[in-house]
Amino acid sequence: MTIGGHMPVKFDSEFAMTIDGELVFSEKKIPVLNPATEEVVAHAPDCGAAQLDAAVRGARQAFNEWRSTSIEIRRKLLEQLATAILDHLDPLSKILTLEQGKALEASKAELLGSVDWIRKTASLELPQDVRQDSGSSAAIRHLPLGVVAGIPPWNYPVNLSAMKIAPALLTGNTLVLKPSPFTPLSMLKIGELARDIFPRGVFSVISGGDELGPLMTAHPGFDKISFTGSTATGRSVMRSAAPTLKRLTLELGGNDPAIVLPGVDVPAVAQTLFWCAFTNSGQICLATKRIYVHEDIYDTFMNVMVETAKAVKVGNGLAPETQLGPISNRPQFERVKALIKDSIDNGHEILAGGLPEQKNGYFIPITIVGNPPENSRIVQEEQFGPIIPVMKFTDVEDAIKRANALDVGLGAMVWGGDHDQAIAVGKRLEAGTVWVNQPPQLAASIPFGGFKQSGIGSEGGVEGLLAYTVTQSLWSKI
Ligand code: NAD
Repeated sequence: MTIGGHMPVKFDSEFAMTIDGELVFSEKKIPVLNPATEEVVAHAPDCGAAQLDAAVRGARQAFNEWRSTSIEIRRKLLEQLATAILDHLDPLSKILTLEQGKALEASKAELLGSVDWIRKTASLELPQDVRQDSGSSAAIRHLPLGVVAGIPPWNYPVNLSAMKIAPALLTGNTLVLKPSPFTPLSMLKIGELARDIFPRGVFSVISGGDELGPLMTAHPGFDKISFTGSTATGRSVMRSAAPTLKRLTLELGGNDPAIVLPGVDVPAVAQTLFWCAFTNSGQICLATKRIYVHEDIYDTFMNVMVETAKAVKVGNGLAPETQLGPISNRPQFERVKALIKDSIDNGHEILAGGLPEQKNGYFIPITIVGNPPENSRIVQEEQFGPIIPVMKFTDVEDAIKRANALDVGLGAMVWGGDHDQAIAVGKRLEAGTVWVNQPPQLAASIPFGGFKQSGIGSEGGVEGLLAYTVTQSLWSKI
């Protein structure tokens, strides 16, 4: 298959890694499936240990010069990367839809969001501070760490990579990025574009199967791991970072609650929360994953949710009418089906959707579960798919307690007619980001990260830049 635009791509023969400034193929390859058809889209290289060593060696050599280039040059090259992605928007969007499943418009939006994120991060400044004490002055310097391993997941393969590339390179580190085995293709192509922009070794992109992530995190040549993925994998990343005390940023799973208080425009809030839960077919770390609605407005709220679910077009991401695509890969498809089956087996009220019909592609109907018990799997576990439990509450204190009851705390939302009351409730929620009377939003200037087992550290903002640096205090007598 070939796709047009400025970047003709011959599938199956043309996906290469970018290692130390060279295009690198491998003898072994991994198949990448289209989740809408289960057909092979292309094969990606399967990076072996020797190729990983070469990527780390190249990144180490490049670090010696890159660390002392001016921040203005690093900004300029990041800007060029953003422009190159923009120039290849159409072919990259198609690759992203073919490997990830999302609708073509959603792929475009992801790429445009990545361009914006890179540009805005590149305009941030590291703090510069000189303090005086005890007759001396100390310059507080924020120096790059060295060679960074970037490991993103499959739900937003480009966006979540951009959130690592821009701060790592701007602060003077070099980076070896490994996309998920389910969605390596778009980042391999972006690696190729970057080859013509950055000095060799500054930014490498490798791909491989399940063995490659653990090989990277155990590799002594990395100084930092920036990982986005599940809490379970985050734990093993942390374990393998221990022998050489690699610095870590862990952006992990969540189970984000939304609390809807009385006094809101119920149909409007239900519509908004529908999309908070189901955008990208629910495969967003910051998707709403549990909704608590006051009993006085529960029935109206549910009617709007269910009617909206019935009207949404789920299908192949390349079809123009598609709003939501399939689940991105088979393991996640099986996990979400198991959660739906558990709800059915336990007699929960399935108000829309349910188990899918047997056909090709990892399609799951939009599924809404009415008021399941708090201890059910669909409330307790992160679903990361198009199924949402909506629970009733009477007393706001009880809703807050239930929202805070889990061992994760990524995002949370409050909607209320009384804005001050909604803010007061928001302040009590145990989550790294809380949105009050607005849907989830991220910005390159604002940090986000997890409470509890949703992660360690932040991405975004000056806080996210500092996470790629080590602090040196340079003292001298005044
Ligand atoms: P995952 O943890 O299975 O995989 C994430 C990445 O880690 C992939 O590139 C994978 O190849 C790699 N990997 C797998 N095992 C590894 C190991 N032992 N050592 C090193 N690397 C390893 O996660 P996923 O299924 O790809 O993504 C879904 C999860 O990611 C959800 O839990 C979601 O909430 C979370 N997520 C979090 C954020 C955030 O910002 N907090 C954003 C998006 C997704």
